[in-house]
Amino acid sequence: MKITFLTIFPKIFDCYLNESILKRAQKKGLVKFGIVNIRDFTADKHKSVDDKPYGGGPGMILKIGPIYRALRSILKKSEIRNLVPTSVGISASLRKSETNPKFKFQKSKTRIILLSAKGKTFDQKMAGKFSKYKHLIFICGRYEGVDERVAKHLADEEISIGNYVLTGGELPAMIISDAITRLMPGVIKTESLKEESFAIRPKNKLKIKNLKLKIVCEYPQYTRPEKFLNWQVPAILLSGDHKKISDWRKRHSRTKIQKQGERI
Ligand code: SAM
Repeated sequence: MKITFLTIFPKIFDCYLNESILKRAQKKGLVKFGIVNIRDFTADKHKSVDDKPYGGGPGMILKIGPIYRALRSILKKSEIRNLVPTSVGISASLRKSETNPKFKFQKSKTRIILLSAKGKTFDQKMAGKFSKYKHLIFICGRYEGVDERVAKHLADEEISIGNYVLTGGELPAMIISDAITRLMPGVIKTESLKEESFAIRPKNKLKIKNLKLKIVCEYPQYTRPEKFLNWQVPAILLSGDHKKISDWRKRHSRTKIQKQGERI
């Protein structure tokens, strides 16, 4: 899979993507990260990526033009056949979109995701869904946000990582990419994924009183030493009795109750 980040702060990604499991996944060729500087696609001599909001108000808004051109540069030719040529200009292509409801990048294995506090809240189920795509493209907002036409005409969906506001979409994009990458075959051992918190398995989806879902989170884990200060590892985990250990783990798995349609 390829994951491309569109950002005006490309250096933010260097450290996180090049350590530990994500670094190994790249070395093994299981995932390829691409970082695209939106500023490289500006059309004026000041290389401006943002401008004041129409209608007034504080802060600056990321412009659609550079984002549109950055997207065009990374999408395959077959995926952009529905767009007018770049030479015609952004306003012409947007005019076309106004009259053509089917105007969208034509693609099936690629997903364009706009990070946005007002988007749908990311969860483990979405991580599983996104991990099936060949190419994910994250558009990272900054300042007061992104021209709404990006959400309306260019992105496939808007995703939030929670009900709070961050300074930019780079951290959310990395969080989502991390959750997706570790689900890809070969990145970490399958058995590690099986009993994890939020793992997608039928028994985690028990219906309670018709309207609620029960989600099982992982049991508590311990490692050496058996005793630290006065704190002892539960004796059952040291017993070697697999059946008892398994029962103990089931009993100690934390559950979260989720109403239908509600996110935890
Ligand atoms: N004015 C916007 C609002 O009230 O929703 C907030 C803009 S925020 C300061 C700048 C950018 O950070 C957003 O465009 C988005 O890309 C990103 N961002 C902030 N909070 C986020 C969240 N919870 N989830 C995903 N992205 C977020």
